[in-house]
Amino acid sequence: VVLNTCAIRENANDKVYGYLGRCKHLKKIKKDLIICISGCLMQEPHEIEEIKNRHQYIDIIVGTHNLSDLPQMIIEANEKNMQKIEVFSNSDIVFENVKYNRDSKISAWINIIYGCDKFCTYCIVPYTRGKQRSRKSSDIMHEVEDLIKKGYKEITLLGQNVNAYGKDLYDDYNLANLLEDVAKLGIPRVRFTTSHPWDFTDSMIEVIAKYPNIMPHVHLPVQSGSSKVLKLMGRRYTRESYLELFNKIKKIVPGVSISTDIIVGFPGEDEDDFKETLSLVEYCKYDNAFTFVFSVRSGTPAEKLKDNTPLKEKEDRLQRLNEVVNKYFLENNKKLEGTTLDVLVEGVSSKKNMYYGYSETNKLINFSSREELEIGSIVPVKITSAKTWSLDGELNG
Ligand code: SAH
Ligand code: SF4
Repeated sequence: VVLNTCAIRENANDKVYGYLGRCKHLKKIKKDLIICISGCLMQEPHEIEEIKNRHQYIDIIVGTHNLSDLPQMIIEANEKNMQKIEVFSNSDIVFENVKYNRDSKISAWINIIYGCDKFCTYCIVPYTRGKQRSRKSSDIMHEVEDLIKKGYKEITLLGQNVNAYGKDLYDDYNLANLLEDVAKLGIPRVRFTTSHPWDFTDSMIEVIAKYPNIMPHVHLPVQSGSSKVLKLMGRRYTRESYLELFNKIKKIVPGVSISTDIIVGFPGEDEDDFKETLSLVEYCKYDNAFTFVFSVRSGTPAEKLKDNTPLKEKEDRLQRLNEVVNKYFLENNKKLEGTTLDVLVEGVSSKKNMYYGYSETNKLINFSSREELEIGSIVPVKITSAKTWSLDGELNG
């Protein structure tokens, strides 16, 4: 059993310890079971101590910077019956030639940049994932070529902050260049996530607009609509400069969908700041949004900020925010009723003659088809009805 952990918010932490109880029980039934715990939580020294002291039945602890050692560690754990811990704090390494077992045969995630140098004051990622380091563009291109040969139809270039791509490696090669080079390889769909607004350049916007196989969807986390709170968060942009970028992307990339992440209840956020977030959402009318209550992470600068807002009030803000974001998801989806969208068929639903897949703008579509469809084909689907988080449709064959 491999538990790959996340440390981004407190409830992700809690889940891990919940699972560990189940693992301990399994180990009693199956003596030769090997249990491994990996991921961001294991880059935090106090969490390693906790596992060492209170969960000695865990066989392997491996960090994010040496994950590629895991196969060898499993072989060793099989031979020796002792807890093995290998966590590097140094993060200069860029994995290459890792053999991935990908779940999907049509859509693949490709890491292009590891770590993050932004140090937003609430965020644990720079500490658990280490400093920003890009993969060489030639390695990425080879990986994409290989995936194309294997029949993949979609790739998503992945990083905590993809548009910082190349800054640590090249003087004159960035995400815009990489997107263009990958698009030219001819794979039907290219996506990228996540974009930090601060690094989003005009040339990136132009490249997205220029290539029909770069999907018109941008995940552009805003976090807050208040410039005061953004400053406390260390986000390096203001409400005004975010909106300027938002408007530019909307103007230059036809039909683009924009999604976001928002945190409520950051220390120092008062009711007026929160209302600024609501008014920004009213303006941006996002196609999708992931919303969170601020969760204090140990060792981050935000841990030391004064926080006078009771949790109950923060949860209330989250609910009010969710009502507004949901309203726009539905409103935007309703506008698509009667239109025909290209859908990459990802799977068959449990209902007869029903399939599902995603539009170019990343909308989930459940649709019927009388003819049998190949998974991985791109088909035109007529939208018959809109829901908040998905669309229903029928094949327009
Ligand atoms: N690198 C991306 C996102 C990383 S984490 C970016 O910069 O946008 C995904 C989302 O989790 C963040 O966008 C943020 O909204 C949320 N998040 C991160 N740390 C958090 C914390 N301490 N409390 C609540 N939400 C947090
Ligand atoms: Fe965290 Fe994203 Fe900020 Fe990096 S850019 S510190 S990953 S929120």
